[in-house]
Amino acid sequence: MKNSVLEASVAERHPASAPDYMPVAELRELQVERLRGVVARAWREVKHFRARLEERGITPEDLHSLDDVAKLPFTVKSDLRDTYPFGLFASPMKDVVRLHASSGTTGKPIVVAYTKEDVEVWTSVLVRCFAGCGLHRGDIIQNAYGYGLFTGGLGAHYGAEALGAAVVPTSGGNADRQIMLMKDFGVTAICCTPTYFLHLIDRAAELGVDFKELPLRAGVFGAEPWTESMRRHIENSSRIEAFDIYGLSEIIGPGVACECRRHQGLHIFEDHFYPEIVDPATGEPLPDGSEGELVLTTLSKQAMPMIRYRTRDITLLLPGTCECRRTIRRMGRIGRRSDDMLIIRGVNVFPSQVEAALLEIEGTLPNYQIILTREQGLDQMEVQVEVTPHMFNDKIGALQGLHAKLQGALDHVLGIRVKVALVEAHSLARSEGKAKRVIDRRAQ
Ligand SMILES: [Zn+2]
Repeated sequence: MKNSVLEASVAERHPASAPDYMPVAELRELQVERLRGVVARAWREVKHFRARLEERGITPEDLHSLDDVAKLPFTVKSDLRDTYPFGLFASPMKDVVRLHASSGTTGKPIVVAYTKEDVEVWTSVLVRCFAGCGLHRGDIIQNAYGYGLFTGGLGAHYGAEALGAAVVPTSGGNADRQIMLMKDFGVTAICCTPTYFLHLIDRAAELGVDFKELPLRAGVFGAEPWTESMRRHIENSSRIEAFDIYGLSEIIGPGVACECRRHQGLHIFEDHFYPEIVDPATGEPLPDGSEGELVLTTLSKQAMPMIRYRTRDITLLLPGTCECRRTIRRMGRIGRRSDDMLIIRGVNVFPSQVEAALLEIEGTLPNYQIILTREQGLDQMEVQVEVTPHMFNDKIGALQGLHAKLQGALDHVLGIRVKVALVEAHSLARSEGKAKRVIDRRAQ
C-alpha cells in the first residue's frame, strides 16, 4: 500500500469528525434525547407510525432509556411501498429540498426525502467517512457512484466537496473514460462499487494502464456486500487501500458507517443512527458481539424519520473500542443479506461463501456466476468461474487440477454438491454497477 504518503493523524482530525470521539456517557445521553425527539416528531407528523404505536399502547413519553427502543415497532420495506409516495414524510413539501428513489425491480420504488438540515447531516457523516479513510483537502476524488435518483452519487459528492477535496463527478459507466481521467488528472481516491472497481482493474490492464503506477491510493467501496478476500485481491492488484462504506437510502444513503484506517469494522455514526442487532427470525434484540440483522433508527432525520428499520443486512456490533480511539461503535462488514440467502436442497447458501472460497484458490478470478436450475424436482447449482488466461493456455492437466480443487473447496464450504464450470477470463457478463451473481431458473 502507498501508505507512506498519508498523514493519517492530521487527516483524521477533521473538525467534522469531533462527534466520533465523544465520551461514551455523553453520546448515550445525546442518543436518548434525540430518540425522544425523533419519536415525538414521527408520532406527531406520521399517521402510519402513530397508528403502530397506538396499537401497542405506547406514547413517546414511555421512552426513558435506550433499552426502551425495543418497545417500538419495526419499520420494514413494505411500509415504504404501502405508503408510496409520501406517506411516511414528517415534513411538509415546502421544507423538503431533495427526493431520492430506489430503482425497485418490482412495483413502485421507495421514495425518501430530505430537508436542508437532513442534507447537512448527510454531508457531515460523509465528511467523517472520508476523513476516517485518511482523505483530505488536496485529494482528487473520482466519484463513480451513479448520479441521479440513487443516493450514492450525490451523497458521496456532497461529502467529498465539503471535505475540501476536488471531486471528479464521473458517475457510473464508460470504463475507458474513467481510466483516462484517473490517469490524466492524477486521481488519488475513487468511490464506486467493489465489483465496478474490479472491472476497472481488468479494463486498465487491457489498455496498458497499471493502477499500481498511478497516484491512486484509496478506494471507498460500498453499495453491495463484499468480502475480505475481495479486499486482498483489490489491494494486491492496484496497491490502494480499500475501505468499506455502508449505508442505505431508507436511512440516509451512503454514510451510515465506514471503516477507519485500522480496518477493524465500520464505525457507525451513532449520534445520528442508532444501531441494534436482532434475531432475524424472532425480532428479539441480541447483545453486542452476536450476529443478527441490523436494525437502524434515525436520531436526527427530519423529513423522513425511520424508526427501527429492518435492513435485512446480517452483521454484528463489535465489542470493545477501536485503536483509532473513536468512541462510536463498530459493526462487522456486511458479508450477506438475509434476502440473498439461497435455499438449495434445504441448505442455506450465501453467494459470499462462494466468493470467499474462490478467492482462496490461485488461478481463479473473482468473477463468477451461480446458476440455479431444477431437474426432476431437484435443485441444481452450477458455479461458473473465470480462470486466469495463463491457466487456459496451460496444459489440460492444470485445469483439471484446478477444477478438482474448486470442487473440493465449494463442497466443503457449502455442504452440498455443486457443479463447477471453468470459463475463460472475461467470458462472464461484466458489471457496470452492482454484480449479478445469481441466475435463478428454478421457477421457469
Ligand atoms: Zn477506528
